[in-house]
Amino acid sequence: MPVESVQKRQVHDIPPPQIIVIEHHAETVICPHCGQIHETSFPDDVPAHLQYGQTIRVLMVYLCIYHLLPMNVPQKSSQTSMDVLLSKQP
Ligand SMILES: [Zn+2]
Repeated sequence: MPVESVQKRQVHDIPPPQIIVIEHHAETVICPHCGQIHETSFPDDVPAHLQYGQTIRVLMVYLCIYHLLPMNVPQKSSQTSMDVLLSKQP
């Protein structure tokens, strides 16, 4: 049966927020030639063993500073929307 016409409808949406974890490794090796220990370093923006990424930090600052929300509101919201309970510490 030939198609007479096609109508379109679009739904625009935002994908659900999802936590991604990027793990950095810094290797230590002993040079087989000179015997010295050589260490690689972590990126400058990764100073801690565990930290929040830039997007989460920007979102929390936006919610708490620009919208003047108490810290526990975005914290609870992150638990609901991303299934992650953010620390009260920055
Ligand atoms: Zn060497």
